[in-house]
Amino acid sequence: MDLGIRGKRGLVCAASKGLGRGCAEALAAAGVDLVINSRTEADITAAAEEIAARHGVSVTPVAADITTEDGRAKVLAAVGQADILVNNAGGPPPGDWRAWSREDFIRALDANMLSAVALMQALVPGMMERGWGRVVNITSQSVRAPIPALGLSNTARTGLTGFVAGMSRQVAGSGVCVNNILPGIHATDRADSLDRGVSQQQGIDIDEARRRRQATIPTGSYGTAEDFGATCAFLCSQHARFIIGQNILLDGGATNMTI
Ligand code: NAP
Repeated sequence: MDLGIRGKRGLVCAASKGLGRGCAEALAAAGVDLVINSRTEADITAAAEEIAARHGVSVTPVAADITTEDGRAKVLAAVGQADILVNNAGGPPPGDWRAWSREDFIRALDANMLSAVALMQALVPGMMERGWGRVVNITSQSVRAPIPALGLSNTARTGLTGFVAGMSRQVAGSGVCVNNILPGIHATDRADSLDRGVSQQQGIDIDEARRRRQATIPTGSYGTAEDFGATCAFLCSQHARFIIGQNILLDGGATNMTI
């Protein structure tokens, strides 16, 4: 299917690996010129070179922490204007609800809510003026069904979801579609680190921890960055014109619910 976005300009945050990388690859395959970001200079530079070589589009790497104002300023200076924005950042650490301080919550809100809000505030007005835009926020399955140890993530991502629910309907009339994708467990470094946490907590080896987590998913396996990127690229396509303010759950059926 032709996604109809060849020649558009996109920003994908936190994209040297994992889900962000999957989104960058799929957008590049659809012909989108990209600015991609992550903190580690060598990784983001290598990712940009690989994506550009594979798909024949322009890919500019920006090494910066997207959860800081300075980092976002550096990224925005490289982007100028964008037609497509994919918001992403590392997730907060697991823990116990009794232990989290105000500072822990502020860090999580900065990383997983307010960074995305700030980038939308910076880039969506230009999309509205030009009459076309797409925004995808990477949130989490935990927005639908809270994950007990990830209370910081549950909290911050639900805040972002509330913001998007209202804002997406205010910009849709200008041709801008804003949606969220909610990953369940995908085979990335983040999933490995959560597997390691389960392995330590339950005193089992990492393969057993992974097997137990996979058994909670109706598909019997983790998702991949490629699955995830394909959905993101579709939401950024011409075909997604009528999809507004939705929360697309990609979890292999793991969240047990009717609608
Ligand atoms: P990942 O494999 O660990 O990759 C994270 C990427 O983000 C890397 O490129 C990393 O590079 C970059 N990054 C991290 N913090 C950053 C920051 N502050 N500024 C800029 N770049 C940053 O993680 P993932 O699995 O793709 O997860 C992406 C998001 O989805 C996370 O918020 C995660 O919590 C959420 N999620 C993931 C899953 C899953 O199963 N994978 C499930 C639910 C939710 P640098 O370290 O070099 O910056």
